[in-house]
Amino acid sequence: AADKEAAAKIPRWVRVNALKTTLSDVLKAGFAEYMEVAELKSLLDAAATAKNARVYYKDPIVENLLAFPPAIDLIAHPLYKSGALILQDRSSCLPAHLLDPPKGARTIDATAAPGNKTTHIAALLGDGNGGTVTAFEKDSRRAEVLKKMVSRAGGDAVITIKAGEDFLKADPKSEELRGVTHLLLDPSCSGSGIVSREEYSLIPLSDPAEKNGKKRKRSAAEKVKQKPLIVEEEQGEQEESRQDMEKSRLLALAEFQKGTILHAMKFPKARKITYSTCSIHAEENEDVVMGVLASAVARRRGWRVERREEGTLRGWERRGLLERCGGDEVVAQACVRCNPIEDGGIGFFVVAFVRDGDVDEEAE
Ligand code: SAM
Repeated sequence: AADKEAAAKIPRWVRVNALKTTLSDVLKAGFAEYMEVAELKSLLDAAATAKNARVYYKDPIVENLLAFPPAIDLIAHPLYKSGALILQDRSSCLPAHLLDPPKGARTIDATAAPGNKTTHIAALLGDGNGGTVTAFEKDSRRAEVLKKMVSRAGGDAVITIKAGEDFLKADPKSEELRGVTHLLLDPSCSGSGIVSREEYSLIPLSDPAEKNGKKRKRSAAEKVKQKPLIVEEEQGEQEESRQDMEKSRLLALAEFQKGTILHAMKFPKARKITYSTCSIHAEENEDVVMGVLASAVARRRGWRVERREEGTLRGWERRGLLERCGGDEVVAQACVRCNPIEDGGIGFFVVAFVRDGDVDEEAE
């Protein structure tokens, strides 16, 4: 019953793809009989009272983002099939919105598949302005999904896909990449903030495959957790061992995540980097930010967090955990958090790093 209740609180978020259409055209062509509501709560209330409530909500922060009642099925909708609509959770739209690349910018999506954020960056850049997205995806199989997604969204002219290529091996000073100014990093994470639409429950420590609805292998830690008939005195030890494994997995992920940010900071013309996870664990979020800020790479190259008031997400209320930012208000306020379900979808974290003034090429 609790799960059903949670399900009713997750709207169906839809990003109108500006590479193909406009918000007003979509509303006219596909949802003429729908009524706009001013609050997300009104949308959920309407959906709870009438099964086929024809209402929508326009997100006040992210441009071109709409919410529909949780039960709406858009998969067969012609606008979805044509790539005009992209089904994308609200929190998943925050990184490209925060990256806020100017028209004509050269950008990188470092860890791109299935490509929701890649096509979002492309939509913000617009077609025909000279802007580019270079999208790295290390896993060749997932890169195939990325290619399909990019084509369907009409992003082929703007997006170059580096299929099967490791971002960490990309040369920041290469002819091709040295002009990049904006980078979006959404690396693999524990997925602890993911809410499954099917089960409507939080999934612990999921992996990217799971996001695509594929069954994932159980981790050794989970197998330990689920082992039946453990005698009582063993149970405490098993629990301790499970927690140790979970902790060490989080720390390994955090090391990789930090490495990705530090590599991005080496691009000579880079001005702005967003870092995001769909994790609710501070180890992968605030702790990574603090680790990066303390690093020699960030300090030498003049990277800092983009302050809340400078960024496009200044109006978002839920911010970073102060105690995990060493009590630094500026850093905590720079971090954006989404709580699962409560904030309208999956649990999420995003922050932007920026640097001012001329880049010292000598230091690069
Ligand atoms: N940003 C994507 C989206 O919104 O659709 C989701 C990205 S998913 C969290 C992380 C992706 O990064 C996975 O597809 C994974 O295969 C890829 N990846 C992991 N390490 C990588 C690396 N070193 N270089 C490039 N891609 C990597």
